[in-house]
Amino acid sequence: MGIDVGGTAIKGGAVSADGEVLDKGEIPAAVDEGPEAVVDRIAALARGLGARAALGLGVPGLLDRDEGVVLSSPNLRPLDGFPLRDELARRLGIAPPAVRIENDANVAAIGEHWLGGARGEDHVLMITLGTGVGGGLILDGHLFVGDGGGGEVGHTVVDPAGPPCGCGQRGCVEVLASATAARRRALEAGLSDDLIELAAAARAAQGPERTLLEAVGRDLGRGLGTVVTLLDVRCFLIGGGFGRALDVLIGGIAEGIAERSTGPDREDLRILPATLGPDAGWIGAARMTC
Ligand SMILES: [Zn+2]
Repeated sequence: MGIDVGGTAIKGGAVSADGEVLDKGEIPAAVDEGPEAVVDRIAALARGLGARAALGLGVPGLLDRDEGVVLSSPNLRPLDGFPLRDELARRLGIAPPAVRIENDANVAAIGEHWLGGARGEDHVLMITLGTGVGGGLILDGHLFVGDGGGGEVGHTVVDPAGPPCGCGQRGCVEVLASATAARRRALEAGLSDDLIELAAAARAAQGPERTLLEAVGRDLGRGLGTVVTLLDVRCFLIGGGFGRALDVLIGGIAEGIAERSTGPDREDLRILPATLGPDAGWIGAARMTC
């Protein structure tokens, strides 16, 4: 069983070891009610999906995996410092080690690698384009986190003179190519900040909307170029709500990679859409338990 805890919704489901989705469900996160209420809700969803011996949990933010504690989560502030694993295990009557927690972008990468758009790839970086830019890196078929925070391509600096980022740097991929950044850049360019409208206009004609989304894509690609040079990863999976505009971002992404990497020819790169949508996270979280 896997559960993906988001800022607005908690999604979960059960999946067999050979990848058959057995059941799934979703409840509002109600984060404002505090950590105890959030854990109660996670436990209620888990019970509703049927008792399981082990549970994987995807949570946004910085985690202590060994202790099962959320260290810092901008989208789930009330959970900061909360012993999520132990409290959930206690409510479900299972041993704490049977609950595994992992960053949400990483579980999405695991899910897409197992059953989605990155199936069969040895090396892949999954990028989640939403409020921020999440990154989940699979190397040799396994999630790679380094000493814990690996894969965070969103905080790769693309333009040292760029806008300030919440991480303390300037010009990160996240402040140039997230959905939030694209809206800000659209307003600065005198365009609508409705990303669906913006993408539709970019598809329809060569105009300022297409120019803007190409520039956003290029900044993302510049960040990915560094990854290509360092690791020779050639497969990039683009997900998240803003990832649905991949068709109008992809040209810019490929240009940005070419500009900032020394590696493969453009035709050797695979820039692919994620295919599991909002199910990627909980599916990946479930995968950690089997
Ligand atoms: Zn940053």
